[in-house]
Amino acid sequence: DFALIDILNPLLVSAQAIAQERKLQLISHLPPNLPLVRANSKTLREVLSNVIDNALKYTFAGGKILIQAGQEKPHFCGIAISDNGPGIPQQDLEHLGERHYRGVQAETEIPGSGLGLAIAKQLIEQMQGEIEVFSPAINSIIKSPSAPGTTFIIWLPIVEG
Ligand code: ATP
Ligand code: MG
Repeated sequence: DFALIDILNPLLVSAQAIAQERKLQLISHLPPNLPLVRANSKTLREVLSNVIDNALKYTFAGGKILIQAGQEKPHFCGIAISDNGPGIPQQDLEHLGERHYRGVQAETEIPGSGLGLAIAKQLIEQMQGEIEVFSPAINSIIKSPSAPGTTFIIWLPIVEG
């Protein structure tokens, strides 16, 4: 059990450096009194860095990444990572979390092994958390900073009582 902020802060520092290099705006909204979460800190660091890494890598220069956290439902604290990158087309959404699955567009343009989300999903399940993805199915030819983007929410059980 540990304070989420202690995991998030160092991750945000290194993400900020990459964002700057890639000309992305990275903003975080973290309330001061986040609950303690029931998770392994090393595991959670890996989960979050995989999802943040995707936002940094798939969002076009000039784009925005927003990281938020809070207890939005009973027993769980959510960490939301949103970007205004290309979004994930429906045919890819259905396969997210499969080992070695890469998006149709990522496949040809952006290097990766298609393992980040598969690992994240498995680790989140181990911690009895959940991962959700929201992404409008759009045409992947849209490449502007105002593209609709993607949001991942990672839900972790909080320490109660
Ligand atoms: P790896 O993480 O192993 O380096 P990867 O990023 O391709 O490779 P995943 O992190 O598992 O693999 O992501 C799977 C696919 O989901 C990606 O190939 C990409 O098409 C899509 N994807 C994931 N996150 C985003 C995002 N924030 N915006 C757009 N597409 C995304
Ligand atoms: Mg990845």
